[in-house]
Parts: sequence; structure tokens; C-alpha cells
Amino acid sequence: MDKQVFYNTLPVLASADIIVAGGGLSGCAAAIASARAGADTLLIESGGCLGGAATAGLVAPISSIRSNDGKHAFGGILQELLDAVTAKAKKYCASSIMPISSLHLYKYILLDKLKNSGANVFFHLFITDVVSDADGTIRYLVVSSKDGLKRIEGKIFIDTTGDGDVMGKSSADTIIGSEPHVLADIADTGLLKSHDKQTDIPEDDYAGKLQPVSLMMQFGGVDVKRATQYMNKKITYADFGITREEFANWPYTGTLGFEMDDSEYIPMPQGRVWLYPAIRDGVATINMSRVLNINACDPQAYSDAEVKAGLQLIAIIDFLLTFVPGFENAYFMESSSTLGIRESRRLVGDYVLRGREVICCQEFPDTIAHGSYIIDIHDPKGKRMAIGGEIKKPHYSIPYGCLVTKKVPNMATAGRSISADHVAMSATRIQGTAMLTGQAAGIAASMALAAGCTMSDVDVTVLQKKLTEAGVFLDLPDRD
Ligand SMILES: Cc1cc2nc3c(=O)[nH]c(=O)nc-3n(C[C@H](O)[C@H](O)[C@H](O)COP(=O)(O)OP(=O)(O)OC[C@H]3O[C@@H](n4cnc5c(N)ncnc54)[C@H](O)[C@@H]3O)c2cc1C
Repeated sequence: MDKQVFYNTLPVLASADIIVAGGGLSGCAAAIASARAGADTLLIESGGCLGGAATAGLVAPISSIRSNDGKHAFGGILQELLDAVTAKAKKYCASSIMPISSLHLYKYILLDKLKNSGANVFFHLFITDVVSDADGTIRYLVVSSKDGLKRIEGKIFIDTTGDGDVMGKSSADTIIGSEPHVLADIADTGLLKSHDKQTDIPEDDYAGKLQPVSLMMQFGGVDVKRATQYMNKKITYADFGITREEFANWPYTGTLGFEMDDSEYIPMPQGRVWLYPAIRDGVATINMSRVLNINACDPQAYSDAEVKAGLQLIAIIDFLLTFVPGFENAYFMESSSTLGIRESRRLVGDYVLRGREVICCQEFPDTIAHGSYIIDIHDPKGKRMAIGGEIKKPHYSIPYGCLVTKKVPNMATAGRSISADHVAMSATRIQGTAMLTGQAAGIAASMALAAGCTMSDVDVTVLQKKLTEAGVFLDLPDRD
């Protein structure tokens, strides 16, 4: 039987005018913005909580929340979330009032904001397929539920699955991994290193490569000050006061990123000790696992990566407790419940943001969001810590064309799957930016619904006005 004929027989489980696919930070911002604009909105999420990488993935820091000169908070739902978490954290969590302090609070504050906006949420539905008309218009999503396959119907769809699972099954053009020559394209920008001593842009043989995946975890009882002195450095055996022989006798030596070579450096999956202070004194978030060459849209690779990263975590926990000064009295607290994916499928949309446009902070008349994060390509080949460096102005701009494609008239995307090349996405993938593109996509969807137009034909000047009214900072040229 033809697949579509079969799908047409499936029961409709739910429907709404605007379907937001994926409840990470970008999806939450999109759904809240769309519902606040008065649109009937439903958010579909495969897991059981909101926040995606920020919560289930234990990615504590929300970066890119203001311009690098500190003059402009980027505002909007992003700022509302930070304010709400900070206020609640004072009362419920810890001595620290930093937004980083209470990542699990995000889940419930997002849920509260979502429900207050009027949007509905449906948990535990995994989007597996998309049915479209001949012109690319999406008719419905096919989801896998506890009760088998179902249909979710909508008029406009916002893909915030991070992996672009909706667009990947639609008529949209998409790409996975680095484009050929994308590093050569930034070679003359004078990109400065910020967290790697190597200052050259590597030769351009990265085509098709993806940033590695990682599992995050947290420790308590850490002497953070002592441990931090080893942060982001290549560590020799002597730095830890151990010998090669002692390291060679450690049970995990020879496996999972701890393979010894002839150098004096201790082998580690990330090549470095990498921790940052978290909830309260003595708590550190650890970002030290790294699995290379994983395309998270490939089910076998995705599962294999969970296995490899999970086994790496056992070894890293033991490594920290056995060798690293500052961890003598530390204890393992928790790890993320799902793999952290930095990069997977991206839209090739009406506009593709280039790395050099991020680095040089190109302005666009149809800007709908700003970002301030560095270019941060975790080395797909695992040889370096990262390829990247500072942008040249306080903030860069993201044009509306990065969220939409004429090939799918009733779809937008936001978050880490927007239409940006491999270099540009290493900055745009960051959580603050994901929320800002989400908010823009949500408002744009409500406008397209009201106007009966395609997502590509939304009046961007009006969208910019609505975003500004909603508290989003947009650095636009003065208009009459
Ligand atoms: C290890 C690591 C460290 C990072 N460090 C930082 C940092 O320091 N600062 C920072 O700002 N950012 C950081 N990032 C980047 C950032 O966390 C993510 O890029 C960002 O959170 C992406 O948000 P999103 O909403 O696009 O996607 P996600 O957060 O991935 O959300 C996608 C949601 O969609 C759901 N979903 C996926 N597929 C389906 C499907 N088929 N059906 C239904 N639901 C689906 C998922 O369950 C998830 O809830 C880091 C990322 C990683 C992996």
C-alpha cells in the first residue's frame, strides 16, 4: 500500500492552527509567541519536559543574551525566562542568583509560561513523517504514540526539533554537516582565537563533517577554584603529579578517548579538563565527553553515540575522581538524560547566513534577531578543542530568510536548524539565539495565518515592529 494512502487512514490525535514541533527553548519561545499573538497553537514534544538541550541535555549556560559591549539585552521571551528563573532561584534553589544556577527550574517556568500564553502541549509524541501537497504545503505530521501512529493536523508548522525532523521529510532543501570550502570562505576574516591557542584556519577538507556530540554532567563537593586552574589546558602527566606508568595502570586507559600516545600530554576525550561553576559552591558542570562523526539524523549512529558517550562518562567520572586536583572530596550528582547534539540537519532557506557575515556582523534590512556568541566549531575531527573566535562587533544579525523557504509555504524553522552555513551555525545554535529565532518564527506564523499568506511572504517590517513591541532588541536602520 502506498505510504500516504496508509497515513490517510490514521486517526487524527490533535489539531491546531499552528503546530510547533519540538519543545526545546526555540520551540517554547515560538509557541508562547504564537499563542500570545492570538493563534490556536499546539506544541508537540517527544520527551516529558520542556527545554530540550537546556534541561534534558543539562546544558546550563544560556549564552548570547546581550550584546558583547553590554549595552543591549536582547530581550523578549528570552529575558522573561531569565528574569523568572532568577527570581525563583533566589527562593527555591541556592545562594547563587545567576541564571545558570537552576536549570531544572526552566522546565516548569517554561511550562507555566506556555500554559499562560494559551498554547497547548502534547508530550510523548515522536514526529516520524510529514505528508505534503504537491506544492510543498504540509498537510499533517505523522507521530508515533503509546497507542500507535497518529496524525497531527495544522495550518502552519514550525520545526524546532533541533534536528529538522519536519523539514527533513518535507519538500525543503536541507543540509547535514559542513559545506565544501566553508572554512576557506572565512580565511581572510582575521578570525581571532578565543579558546584555542592555534591561530590558523585549518585546511578546507571538512566537507560533510559535523561538530561532535557530548553528554553533560554535574559534580558536587568540588574545590572549583583548584580544579579550574586546569581548565582548557593540555595537561601533562607531571601537571597532575602522576607518571605515565601510573596513568597506564588506570583501568580505563586505552579506551574511549583515553588512548595514550607518545606525547607527554594526558589523553582525554575533549583533550582538556572542562568544567564551570554551577548551582552552588562546590558544584561544577562538566563538559568533557566527545564522540566524533555522529549524524544524529541516522538512527543507528544516534544510538551508537548514546552508548559511546555513556561509556565515556563512566571513564571521565573515574578520571576526575582519581587524578584531578580539586575532586578529592567530589561526588557525581547527575548526567543529562539525552545526548547533546551540537549540529545536525539545517534548512537551506530563502537566505543562507554565512560565517563571514556573522564574523563581520553584516547588517540586514530584514533582521529578526541578534546574536553575540563567538564562532565556536568544536573540531569535527577532534584534533583541536575548537575552531573559532570573536565576532568583530558587539552583535551580529540574523535575517528573516533564514527561518523560511519558498519550497514549503506553510513552514518555518528556528533554533539550531535555521538556514546558516556550518560556520555561522556554530554561533547561531546557542540557546539565547535559539529563543530569539523561535519568538520571531512564532509571531511570523501568527501573521501568516491571519493574512492567509505563505511564511516567505510575511511582511517583515510589521514582524520587526511586533518583535520590538514584545521587548526584543532590534538594531535596525531608522525608517520613515
Ligand atoms: C554539549 C553542549 C554544550 C552546549 N553549550 C552551550 C552553552 O554553553 N551555551 C549555550 O547557549 N548553548 C550551548 N549549547 C547549544 C544549545 O544547547 C543548543 O543548540 C540549543 O539549546 C538548541 O535549542 P533548540 O530549541 O534548537 O533544540 P533542542 O534544545 O535540541 O530542542 C529540540 C526539542 O525537540 C524535541 N524533538 C526532537 N526531535 C523530535 C521529534 N522527531 N518529535 C518530537 N519532538 C522532537 C526534543 O526532545 C527537544 O525537546 C550546547 C550544546 C551542547 C550539545
